[in-house]
Amino acid sequence: MRIVVLGAGFGGLELAATLSEKFGAELDLTLVDGGDAFVFGFSKLDVMFGKAETAAVRHRYDALALPGVRFVNATVQAIDPESKRVETTAGSLDADVLVVALGADLDPAATPGLVEGGHEFYTVAGAFGLRDVLDSFGGGEVIVGVTSTPFKCPPAPSETALLMHDFLRERDLLGSSRVTLVMPLPKPVPPSPAASAAILAAFAERGIRWRPGRLVASLDPSRRVAILDDGDEMPYDLFLGVPVHRAPEVVIESGLAVEGWIPVDPHTLETRFPNVYAVGDVASVGTPKAGVFAEGQAVVVADRIAARLRGDDSTSAYDGRGVCYVELGRGAVAKVDVTFTPGQAPVGDLEGPSAELVADKEQFGTSRIARWFGG
Ligand SMILES: Cc1cc2nc3c(=O)[nH]c(=O)nc-3n(C[C@H](O)[C@H](O)[C@H](O)COP(=O)(O)OP(=O)(O)OC[C@H]3O[C@@H](n4cnc5c(N)ncnc54)[C@H](O)[C@@H]3O)c2cc1C
Repeated sequence: MRIVVLGAGFGGLELAATLSEKFGAELDLTLVDGGDAFVFGFSKLDVMFGKAETAAVRHRYDALALPGVRFVNATVQAIDPESKRVETTAGSLDADVLVVALGADLDPAATPGLVEGGHEFYTVAGAFGLRDVLDSFGGGEVIVGVTSTPFKCPPAPSETALLMHDFLRERDLLGSSRVTLVMPLPKPVPPSPAASAAILAAFAERGIRWRPGRLVASLDPSRRVAILDDGDEMPYDLFLGVPVHRAPEVVIESGLAVEGWIPVDPHTLETRFPNVYAVGDVASVGTPKAGVFAEGQAVVVADRIAARLRGDDSTSAYDGRGVCYVELGRGAVAKVDVTFTPGQAPVGDLEGPSAELVADKEQFGTSRIARWFGG
């Protein structure tokens, strides 16, 4: 059975590694990605704030050595979900089971003034480039602002505001600076009241201003003001934005997307096309767009494919659970455990912050790279 997985991010790598572990060289899985390396979302913040080197956080795909997995470094140009044929810059691929794990594309140009007058920290290039920008920043009004919904990793803008405050303190720039966070959510982590309270307490303690329920609609670079969706204006010296997210163009053109993202059965992750699955940020599953959810979805799809390979029926169903680490500044790390069940209010718990969780987060990354890349 020919399995083709589009996208070697959190979802695609987890899927390939899980099936490779189960079937080894008997597996016939082709993993396609247009990039040359995987970078964890949280590593973008590490590089941006000078806590890690670029080379250390870029996990190159040419090191991928999973039995039964063939990696193809190519751009996906067309997907036909009926025939399960994919056109890429390296030729066509025909699948018996097709998994779309192409993530969310980021479009900084969609926010007027952002490219000319601000910065974004969600793309790899944007976050890595900010390292030099921050290095030469002499202090002033800093706005961390979200420009649209949905956006990946809802706690990330709050983490960025706290890490920015740390950065200003370390550079002795707090006296001449102020950090403001503008975001559309009513709370920093809506499903977890405890996590939201911990983040809001950290903001209050540091004097970080918090503007909930608002988006940044545009920047006016000539006046250096951010214009919010209610028309309010906020002056800035440094704008750190979360850009507009969209499904990749090739997904939109394939007819798989409805209202911008790929609808799937929330339990099986199958699209309306038989044997075509979608996992992670590209899908609308009812969970936030975050790596831990992409991973949990990939595990279920892997289980369903494995059952088919063995000739069984799979009863594996996605449970909407994700556990992720949240930076609270000053080196503190907490853990949030949230579950999204269709038709019910999401629920979430907070553990920590603690020193053990700092080590846990490190282990979270290194253990995945070891499993996902094999060899
Ligand atoms: C600053 C920041 C911090 C974050 N922190 C966390 C965190 O702590 N925990 C967490 O769980 N999540 C975090 N995230 C979110 C996380 O990075 C994403 O939600 C996750 O990577 C989504 O996984 P995915 O497999 O759906 O897509 P991705 O990991 O984005 O992978 C998609 C892949 O598809 C490829 N691709 C796209 N289009 C094409 C094409 N046409 N042809 C070929 N290849 C293509 C891309 O190159 C990419 O490798 C963070 C994100 C950011 C920006």
